[in-house]
Amino acid sequence: MVEMFSVKAIFACARFTKHLSHGKHAGFPWLYCCHGINLEPRNFQRSRNYFTCSKLHSQEKKVYVDMGEFPVENIRNFSIIAHVDHGKSTLADRLLEIAGVISKKGDNQQVLDTLQVERERGITVKAQTSSLFYTYKGTKYLLNLIDTPGHVDFNYEVSRSLAACQGVLLLVDANQGVQAQTVANFYLAFESELSIIPVLNKIDLKNADPDGVASQLENLFDLKEEECLRISAKTGVGIQDVFESIILKVPPPVSSPTKPLKAFLFDSTYDQYRGAITNVAIIDGSISKGDKMTSAFSGKTFDVSEVGIMYPDRVPTGQLYSGQVGYVIAGMYNIKEANIGDTFHHPGQPTEPMPGFKAAKPMVFAGMYPIDQSEYVSLRSAIDRLTLNDSSVSVSIDSSPALGQGWRLGFLGLLHMDVFNQRLEQEYNANVIVTSPSVPYKAVLKETKLNKQDYGDTDEITINNPALFPDIARVERYLEPMIMATIITPDEYIGKVINLCIEKRCEHVEHTYIDQKRVLLKYRLPLNEVIIDFFDRLKSISSGYASFDYEDNGFEPADLVKLNILLNGKVVEELSTVVHRDKAREVGKHICTRLYDTIPRQLYEVAIQATVGSKVLARETVRPLKKNVLAKCYGGDISRKMKLLKRQAEGKKRMRKLGNIDVPKEAFISVLKR
Ligand code: GDP
Ligand code: MG
Repeated sequence: MVEMFSVKAIFACARFTKHLSHGKHAGFPWLYCCHGINLEPRNFQRSRNYFTCSKLHSQEKKVYVDMGEFPVENIRNFSIIAHVDHGKSTLADRLLEIAGVISKKGDNQQVLDTLQVERERGITVKAQTSSLFYTYKGTKYLLNLIDTPGHVDFNYEVSRSLAACQGVLLLVDANQGVQAQTVANFYLAFESELSIIPVLNKIDLKNADPDGVASQLENLFDLKEEECLRISAKTGVGIQDVFESIILKVPPPVSSPTKPLKAFLFDSTYDQYRGAITNVAIIDGSISKGDKMTSAFSGKTFDVSEVGIMYPDRVPTGQLYSGQVGYVIAGMYNIKEANIGDTFHHPGQPTEPMPGFKAAKPMVFAGMYPIDQSEYVSLRSAIDRLTLNDSSVSVSIDSSPALGQGWRLGFLGLLHMDVFNQRLEQEYNANVIVTSPSVPYKAVLKETKLNKQDYGDTDEITINNPALFPDIARVERYLEPMIMATIITPDEYIGKVINLCIEKRCEHVEHTYIDQKRVLLKYRLPLNEVIIDFFDRLKSISSGYASFDYEDNGFEPADLVKLNILLNGKVVEELSTVVHRDKAREVGKHICTRLYDTIPRQLYEVAIQATVGSKVLARETVRPLKKNVLAKCYGGDISRKMKLLKRQAEGKKRMRKLGNIDVPKEAFISVLKR
């Protein structure tokens, strides 16, 4: 019936009386063999356990969980938030170890970073949940921990995770102090009115300055110095205090077991066989396997086939009760059925739906096309599934004369776009062309007949695709998106940082010392200037010490032009881009050189030109191959000829034909990188 594993953790034998407080129950204790010993029913006669098991990170483990054992007052739901690399995932490891969820192995397992891309890059890109059980002063608590990503591109994951929490651990590296993302994350938690537990990490390092960092926290956020916990997530020092603070300072959820079911969907993943796995917070009531649940968003009803907790893998529990966080599988095979932010209720018992989430605001757009049009359908399903996993990506259908049918995707930043691309390739085996990224511009249109005919009554349009950039003759003015950047830097680099910001057309907003040596700068900048290389340059001029975060900040009029790229006299829309007039020549030259480096020599000459209107701003010429290598293989040398042809064909697989020119896939991505 179910796989057998050895017992390593047993949580259960709940007293029946506790169930009564929760009302609804279903399911029966199941019988298992463990270590070949029969567990007779009498061993569990007085309990109504919900037996579950799961193979956790290759450890054998069986967990007996009765979710009815945890009334609302014994539940704590919290997130770990911090700047990149301050130790969130490491702290999550320690908490899971102490609670016995995972065994003690090494000092750096990062068990919650499960995606290949996370392991390869050493960063968290997806918020991950794990429940854990902890006994404090004789009372068993159910804790639900969410490890979040730290990079600005994945902030949407953080804000969604916070909706399922009542508190956060704000982790700060005692060696590095408050960084830009610390500030951003603090305000996310603060605005969500969560209790914030400041935790200073890495006190084992010899340069750690917990006192200094504690006073930064007090200066900036009014968090009391004496309330800062001091820990080392690596060595395990101070972790017990973290548990104590969670239990004492994070309030239990406000939740009613007696009200009808109200389940809030805050995240989801896609499983090939089970469909959407929805992460839910049970706001009121309870949900059981076998129930039906109705979406407040679509009105559609689903059969609940599995309910459980993440531990950190899925562990079925049969029920989830008020205040608890777990997963529900309900046969949602159509991606659109699992709407992030949706509220579910039992059929016929509608409740006031939760407010949901603000839609993520994409900052960067790029076209995505299958290398081979025959892969269109499989790529579409891969994109559908991956966007279920990452709801911050926006998708619209697009097509291009050179690249065929595809999509225009919106991302929260370039790293986000890179990671999405890598996940498509790694998790879905997809092979795609991504066009050069662009930010969303706006154009205020003139009142003309032609504009009315093309754009209807709207007088302002948003342009996510440079190919659709309207001509200046039809436009009153163009607008470009702005951001508010927060930069924290040691003061010795301040001159260089300010110079970089000036080069990027900044507007100075704020300049505050957060302690004797560190400065917090606020600048308003055009997004377009930031998206490509700002962060890399900031890191290099500050020897890696400056940190950076941003949020969108409206639109400003700008003198924009469309920079066309021509190959042998033909415009290639996929390579064209929108730039500031002052920068057109520089960017045009750069793109031409890049293309010159990536386009291989062909049988004929290839002219690469960058133009604005009819003016040519830059040109490069790829000389033709001197002679046809195949021409030499005359007569009987068939096998050599075949080999050469095969090699040429393989090379061409990664190429795209634009007119009669072979352009490698990389050309589309690399043109804008500097
Ligand atoms: P995250 O990006 O916030 O999830 O950070 P990680 O948990 O991935 O940790 C980043 C790096 O800091 C890893 O190399 C960890 O081993 C290291 N690290 C985390 N906590 C500590 C600590 O308490 N002391 C020391 N010395 N290193 C730590
Ligand atoms: Mg992490």
